[in-house]
Amino acid sequence: MTGSAVIDHTQRDPWGIAVRQFDLAANLLHLDPNIRSVLASCQRELTVHFPLRLADGSVKVITGHRVQHNVSRGPGKGGIRYHPSVTIGEVKALAMWMTWKCAVVNIPYGGAKGGVVCDPKQMTQQQLETMTRRYTTEIMLLIGPERDIPAPDVGTNAQTMAWIMDTYSMHKGYTAPAVVTGKPIAIGGSEGRSEATARGCVYAIIEAAKHLGMDIAGSRVVVQGFGNAGSFSAKLLSEMGAIVVGLSDTGGGIANPKGMDPQKVEAYKRERDTVAGFPGAEAVTNRELLELECDILIPAAIENQIDATNAPRLRTKMIAEAANGPTSPEADRILHDRGIFMIPDILGNAGGVTVSYFEWVQDLQNLFWREATINARLKEVMVKSFNDVLALAQKHKVDMRTAAYMLAVRRVAEATLTRGIYP
Ligand code: GLU
Repeated sequence: MTGSAVIDHTQRDPWGIAVRQFDLAANLLHLDPNIRSVLASCQRELTVHFPLRLADGSVKVITGHRVQHNVSRGPGKGGIRYHPSVTIGEVKALAMWMTWKCAVVNIPYGGAKGGVVCDPKQMTQQQLETMTRRYTTEIMLLIGPERDIPAPDVGTNAQTMAWIMDTYSMHKGYTAPAVVTGKPIAIGGSEGRSEATARGCVYAIIEAAKHLGMDIAGSRVVVQGFGNAGSFSAKLLSEMGAIVVGLSDTGGGIANPKGMDPQKVEAYKRERDTVAGFPGAEAVTNRELLELECDILIPAAIENQIDATNAPRLRTKMIAEAANGPTSPEADRILHDRGIFMIPDILGNAGGVTVSYFEWVQDLQNLFWREATINARLKEVMVKSFNDVLALAQKHKVDMRTAAYMLAVRRVAEATLTRGIYP
C-alpha cells in the first residue's frame, strides 16, 4: 500500500473527532494545558463481558461499556446504545459530547454514556430483557440516582429503561425510579420525554429561522433517521406547515418534492418495519437523501454522515443535528464557508437530556408536572441556550459548533478547576 492510499481511520473515529472538536475550542479559550489534558480524557471507562444464553442452549459472550467522561458539574448522565458497531471509542466520544451538552444547556450533570455490542433488531424481547438485566448488574458499580443516570439512545427505549430500573431496584431492595430517565410514565417517567429531543430541536430551529429570516411554514425539510428523534421532528415540523420532502431509516430513503405526511409514513413503517417503499415516493439511498434540495436538513441517525466528500454537495440553508456526531470537523469548515447555518448536536439534541433532567427532579421530589409545564420549561432552556451560543458565535466570529463548545468547555473547566485536585 502506498502512503496516499492509506485511509486515515482517525478521521472517522468518533473519539478522535470529539477530541479535535474540543481542541478547537480549547485553543480559542487559551485553556491551560493542565486542565486541557484532564478534559481531553475520560474519568472512568468500564468494559464488561458477560454470557447470554441463546434459544438453542448455546452461550454468547456479550460486550458492553459504561463511560463517565467528567462529573465535575454533577452525576454522570447519558444514554445507553444497543448497536452492532458500538466500540469503546464511540462510547467515550458520546460520553464527552454529553458533558458538553449538559453544560451548554446548563443542567447540573456530567457526561456519561453506555453501549452494548448487539443487534437489537435481530433479538427477541426475552433476549433483550435478559441481556439488559445482566448488563445493568454489571454496570451497577457505576450507576445510581446520585452517581450516573442512564437514558435511552439508539436501539433502546422506555421498556429498556423499565428493565434497568427494575433490576437496579431489586438489587437495592427498594424502588429507585431516579436511576434512569426516559422510563414509561407508569413507573415515574415524565410527560413529554419521548418527544423531547425532537421538540427541543424544533425550538432551536424556530430560533435559527428567526435569525435567518426564514419561515418554517413552507420550508422543505429532509430528515435522516426515522427513530425517536427523527420521526417526532418530521411530525412537529409538518404540523407547523413545513413540507417533508425526504425521510429515511436503515432500510433506505424516500423522497417526494411535493411533500409526504410523516404520520402516514409512520403508519407504513409500523407495518413494514421501514420507510423504504412508501407509496408515491422516489427511492433514494441514505447518502443521496442528504444531498436533496431543502431548507432544513436534520440528521437524526448516527455519526459520520456529513464529511468532506458530501459537505460541498449539500443543498440546504440550515442543518439541525438531532443525532450525535453526524458531521466531521472537515465538513464543519466547508459548511461554514458555504454559509450553511449549523445547529450543532450538543445544542440541537439537548432537549432530550433537558427533559431527562426534569424527569429526574420529579422522581427525586415525588412530585410530577403537567406536560404544558415541561414543554414551557424546555422551550425556555432551548431558546436561552440557542441565543447564548449565537451571541458567542457572533462575538468571536466562529461557527455555532465552536461557540457551543466554547460555552460548554468554559463551564466545565470552571467547575473542574474550582473543585481542585484530590488529594
Ligand atoms: N441519549 C440522549 C442523548 O444523546 C439522551 C441522554 C439522556 O437523556 O440522558 O442526548
